[in-house]
Amino acid sequence: MKILIATDMEGITGVTTWDQVTPGHAEYARFRKLMTDDINAAIRGASDAGADEVIVADGHWNGSNILIEELDPRARLNTGSPSPFSMMEGIDKSIDGVMFVGYHARNGSPDAILDHTWSSRTVANVWLNDILTGEYGLNAAVAGHFGVPVILVSGDQIACAQVTELLGAVETAVVKQASSRFAAECLSPQVTQEIICLSAARAVERLAQGDVPEPFVLDMPITVTIEFFTSDMADRATRIPFTKREGTRVSLTVPEMTSAYNGFRAMVMLASG
Ligand SMILES: [Zn+2]
Repeated sequence: MKILIATDMEGITGVTTWDQVTPGHAEYARFRKLMTDDINAAIRGASDAGADEVIVADGHWNGSNILIEELDPRARLNTGSPSPFSMMEGIDKSIDGVMFVGYHARNGSPDAILDHTWSSRTVANVWLNDILTGEYGLNAAVAGHFGVPVILVSGDQIACAQVTELLGAVETAVVKQASSRFAAECLSPQVTQEIICLSAARAVERLAQGDVPEPFVLDMPITVTIEFFTSDMADRATRIPFTKREGTRVSLTVPEMTSAYNGFRAMVMLASG
């Protein structure tokens, strides 16, 4: 059994502010270690339950947050940016299940730590076909393209609830109860590592029994629509051929999900420029 652990940083144990997840800031060093610890807990749980290959994708910022010298040696690490599949680097048909560790809610969510969608300065909302979603939905759809189900999410209570609402009853590891964008009641790392480890083990056991939600497969062709914060962002995004614009919303219709993911990333990169 082969597991891909797709990671982000905003949903890691103890994180409540941008400083803690921003390279260059003094606080960041502490939280890289906590990120590595949360991920190691997932690797331990998955391996204990019978996963024989674990790939980790470092999905936050420039993809170089996880401390490889402290990574559980049973896993391999996809790090660096840009990579072909970004937050989902390592996904292909050979993966049996995906775990989301350190995930956050989509932009605009109440009581959700550091809620945003891909770029906190650029993207107000994202729809896949008619489904309003966040990074979790984009990444789950990429997994679904390869026939792979998402089997676990860790993060605050809203991130876990949004993933469950979209995908069904995946294993959830709630590491903090958010009360605003920058405030939460956080469990200690000792406690959250135990929760993540047990959830990861349960997720792999359920996968082995065929007791996990279906892969997230969208109707094709796929329309990805981005609502940007300002019209100059939409101006730049519409330089991509075949986009359609309505106000600050730009949409692109493509035959399948890997192209939708590439198109989404390209629109955000141009718009941020
Ligand atoms: Zn992030």
